Amino acid sequence: MTTTTSLAEIARRDLADLNDRIVGPGDPAYDEARAVHNAMIDRHPALLVRCSSAEDVARAIAFARAHGAPIAVRGAGHNGGGLGVVDEGVVIDLAGITGIVIDSEAHTVRVGGGCTWGEVDRATAQHGRATPSGIISTTGVGGLTLGGGLGHLTRRFGLTIDSLLGADVVLADGSTVHASADEHPELFWALRGGGGNFGIVTSFEFRTHPIGTAVMAGPTFWPIEQLPDAMRFYREFAPSAPRAVNGFFAAMTVPPADMFPAELHLRKVAAVMWCVVGSEEEATRLLAPVHDIGTPLLHHVGPVPHPALQSLFDGLYPKGLQYYWRADFVNELSDELIDQHLTWGQKLPTMLSAMHLYPIDGAAHDVANTDTAFSYRDAQYAEVILGADPDPANADAIRDWTVGYWEVTHPYSAGGAYVNFMMDEGQDRVHATYRDNYDRLARIKTQYDPDNVFHVNQNIHPTTT
Ligand SMILES: Cc1cc2nc3c(=O)[nH]c(=O)nc-3n(C[C@H](O)[C@H](O)[C@H](O)COP(=O)(O)OP(=O)(O)OC[C@H]3O[C@@H](n4cnc5c(N)ncnc54)[C@H](O)[C@@H]3O)c2cc1C
Repeated sequence: MTTTTSLAEIARRDLADLNDRIVGPGDPAYDEARAVHNAMIDRHPALLVRCSSAEDVARAIAFARAHGAPIAVRGAGHNGGGLGVVDEGVVIDLAGITGIVIDSEAHTVRVGGGCTWGEVDRATAQHGRATPSGIISTTGVGGLTLGGGLGHLTRRFGLTIDSLLGADVVLADGSTVHASADEHPELFWALRGGGGNFGIVTSFEFRTHPIGTAVMAGPTFWPIEQLPDAMRFYREFAPSAPRAVNGFFAAMTVPPADMFPAELHLRKVAAVMWCVVGSEEEATRLLAPVHDIGTPLLHHVGPVPHPALQSLFDGLYPKGLQYYWRADFVNELSDELIDQHLTWGQKLPTMLSAMHLYPIDGAAHDVANTDTAFSYRDAQYAEVILGADPDPANADAIRDWTVGYWEVTHPYSAGGAYVNFMMDEGQDRVHATYRDNYDRLARIKTQYDPDNVFHVNQNIHPTTT
C-alpha cells in the first residue's frame, strides 16, 4: 500500500514554525478558511498560510514555487471572481498583517496589507480625515487599492491610488522592495491599477484628506418608471456639480430597513446615493435641483460620520451570498442607453440585485491615463451590474439577468471595465481594460515577475511567456 503526503503535511514539516497557521483539507477550519465573500466560488486549495509578516509571505511564496503550486493572494477575499482562492494551490492569506499607524503631522497613514477599509476609516476619522476608498467597510485595502479604488470620495479626492504614496512589496523571488515615486518608480506606476500582478503588498502608505466629523450623505429615490427622468437629470447635473458632490446612480430595490419608510420597502427605484464633503447648508443648497425632477419618493441627506457611511451597506452585502458581476466603463448616457436601463432596472430579479454607476470624474480626472496603470481616467462612469441573493437556487436567475443586462448595455460602453468589478472574463477583456497601458505593464511584469508566479488575478502576461 502506498500513501501520499499532502502538500499541507509537507508545509507543516517545511514551515514548522508556521504550523499553527497552516490550514489544509481535513482541518476543522478548512471550509471556513477557503470560503471567500462570493459563495458562488467553491475552490479547494491544497493549503492556506495565514501570514503575519513579510517574512512569512516570502517563505510561503518560496514553498509554493518549490512545489510548483499556484498561488492566490487573499486580502479580505471580496473579489467577485474569487481571486483570493485557487484550486490545488497555496492561498497566502494576509489577514494577519494588520497595524495602522497615523502620522498626524504629515497627514499620512501606514496600513498593513491585510487590513480592511473599515479599520482604516475608523482610525483616520479620529483625526477628521479619510483616504478615499469604496462603499463597503469589509473590503480589503489590498485588492481595492491595487485595482484603483472608487467610492464616495472619488470626485473630491480622486481614486484610492491617487492617495497612495508608497508600498512595501514582497516580490516573486522573495525579496522585499519599497515602491514609491522615488524607489522602483515603474513598479509604483504598475501597482496603481495593475492589481496583484507584481508582488504581495505587506504595507501601504496613503495620504489622508480633511473631511471633518461627518459627511452629508443619503439617497434620493424615484419610482423605477421615472428612471429616464432621473438619469437624464443625473447625466447633466453630476458632471457639472462641484467636486464636493459625489453621487452614484442606482437601479435598485429599497431594502426593508428601519431607516426607510415602510411604504417604500421592497419597491424598485431609481436612486442616487449622495455624499457631499461640506456643511449641511451646502449640501441642501447644492442638491436642491433634485426636488424638481419627477416625483421623488424620498430625499434624505444629512450628517453621517464617514465610518458609518462606509459601513451602511455592510449588512446588505455580507459574505456568503451568491454574487454575479458584469461591468463596463461608460462615457455617455444616451437616450437609447437610458431606455435599456429602464427595461432592465424594472426586471431586477432579487431584492439585492442592482445596477450602479460610479462617477470617475472630478479629482480622478486630474491624473492622466498614462500617469498610473489605471487607463480609463477619461471615462465618466464605472458601471457595475450586480446580481446578488442569499439562495443558491437563484444563482441562475441572477446570472441570466446580469448577463442579459450587460449584453444590451455593453455596446454603448467605452470598452474595458474596472478590474475590481470583473469576474473571469478572459484575456481580451484584460487588454481592453488596460488598453494603451498594457504593453508597459507587460514590460514591468517581465522585470518583476518573469515566471508569472502571481497569475491568479486579471493577469498581465510577462513578455517572455
Ligand atoms: C460588496 C462589495 C462591494 C464593493 N464595492 C466596491 C467599491 O465601492 N469600490 C471599489 O473600488 N471596489 C468595490 N468592490 C470591489 C473590490 O474592490 C474588489 O472585490 C477587491 O478585489 C477586493 O479586495 P480584497 O483585498 O478584499 O480582495 P481579495 O479577493 O482578497 O483579492 C483580490 C485580488 O487582489 C489581490 N490582492 C489583495 N490584496 C493584495 C495585496 N496586499 N498584495 C497583492 N495583491 C493583493 C489578490 O491577489 C487578488 O488578485 C466591492 C466588492 C464587494 C464584494
